[in-house]
Amino acid sequence: MLAEIKGINEECGVFGIWGHEKAAEITYYGLHALQHRGQDGAGVVTSDGEKLKVHKGLGLVNDVFKHAKFDELQGRTAIGHVRYGTQGDGGFDNVQPLLFRSQTGSLAIAHNGNIMNGHKLRGQLEDQGSILQTTSDTEVLAHLIKRSLSDDFEESIISALRSLVGAYSFVILKEDAMYIAADPRGLRPLSIGRLGDGYVAASETCAFDLVGAKFERDVEPGELIIIDKDGLRSKSFQERESRTMCAMEYVYLSRPDSDINNVNVHASRKKMGVELAKEASVEADVVTGVPDSSISAAIGYAEETGIPYEIGIIKNRYVGRTFIQPSQELREQGVKMKLSPVRGIVEGKRVIMIDDSIVRGTTSRRIVRMLKEAGAKEVHVRIASPSLQHPCYYGIDMSTRDELIAANNTIDEIAEIIGADSLAYLSEEGLERAIIREDKDDQGICKACFTGNYPVKEKGQKEIEYTRL
Ligand code: AMP
Ligand code: SF4
Repeated sequence: MLAEIKGINEECGVFGIWGHEKAAEITYYGLHALQHRGQDGAGVVTSDGEKLKVHKGLGLVNDVFKHAKFDELQGRTAIGHVRYGTQGDGGFDNVQPLLFRSQTGSLAIAHNGNIMNGHKLRGQLEDQGSILQTTSDTEVLAHLIKRSLSDDFEESIISALRSLVGAYSFVILKEDAMYIAADPRGLRPLSIGRLGDGYVAASETCAFDLVGAKFERDVEPGELIIIDKDGLRSKSFQERESRTMCAMEYVYLSRPDSDINNVNVHASRKKMGVELAKEASVEADVVTGVPDSSISAAIGYAEETGIPYEIGIIKNRYVGRTFIQPSQELREQGVKMKLSPVRGIVEGKRVIMIDDSIVRGTTSRRIVRMLKEAGAKEVHVRIASPSLQHPCYYGIDMSTRDELIAANNTIDEIAEIIGADSLAYLSEEGLERAIIREDKDDQGICKACFTGNYPVKEKGQKEIEYTRL
């Protein structure tokens, strides 16, 4: 039931390239840069102007393309996707890009976000005789495009996009054109760049750097970009609302070397640390951050307080999701696969441990215990974002309200549960100061998971917000 209401989450990464001899290979490299956005599946669809070809599979980009025959994925255009599957929908059928073939031509779609009315639209389509093959909301868009009464493909996409409610960044491929679209609030990141005479699109700008492309601009909320033999055109498919970019992209999701809305992610995280230090300093000997996403904030906190930043926790980079985890018995013997304390740094010290966020509290509890076992005298936990109290309906896997530790406990109670000597979160104002640049226009952010104030609502959402279904 929960999946029904929340839709299927697509906490993913999309990529597209138009006008390059080696479009499939460039997409493969682009997907590498986006790997952190999804590790469950990856795929590429190419167009040689006449036919679309697909290569996709379950697992990491490297695994999926280990035996790929790039010379068979010909064409100067390609789109790609890395998938983060939730809600038990990790099967092959849902791996994107989804490719649809029909007598009138083929269509491939890559999507990042969450279509909140996806279930309702799916029901309507089924009532009208459509048979859907996946549980992905992305397929709904394909059917809506196909069923549109217009003969003009552009108009069909526009009318399909207008019926969606939610958060989305789409890259769509036809034999002779590529389409790029962002929802009217611009909730999920999507940028375009240039590579030689061609164009690229990606969820994060770090993908441009990896393939040698030059960032051009972010896709505007409610914008549809069409790239074909005549070049690039832009249309507004729906009246744009004020931008509400997902704040968690800055806090945790995006790579530090990406820029979103002209704001560098590392710089914003560092500022979150600075703001946190101003709001919640405490006497201590060292500041340390949970690798990798909290290092920037820890550096900012240390700089502001003058307390030295140290590497107190090490991450083993080679533990993937598919790694065979130690048995309970071995875990109890102290076999820790992901994170290890640096004993020489924390022993006998008062440690400030910075993390970017607390969801269920599991990570913080483990790390506090680990640091204390390594001899830390005190562990003060500082969180570089406000407390997460509300679920996300816009594509981020954030669990239900029941599972969010801050939705059900006071700060003192959380400190006790995680075993910290003290605990403090960044304020909403501090988060805004860290992200929003006053010298730039259009810098609004979504903070719904902190505030409960949702910028996009679907009928019935309020009633289920506090209920585990
Ligand atoms: P938890 O252990 O459940 O409290 O999760 C908190 C940790 O997960 C933090 O260290 C974050 O870096 C990370 N995190 C935050 N948001 C997410 C998310 N949406 N998906 C996966 N991990 C997350
Ligand atoms: Fe991002 Fe939170 Fe808004 Fe979801 S609710 S889009 S995670 S800021």
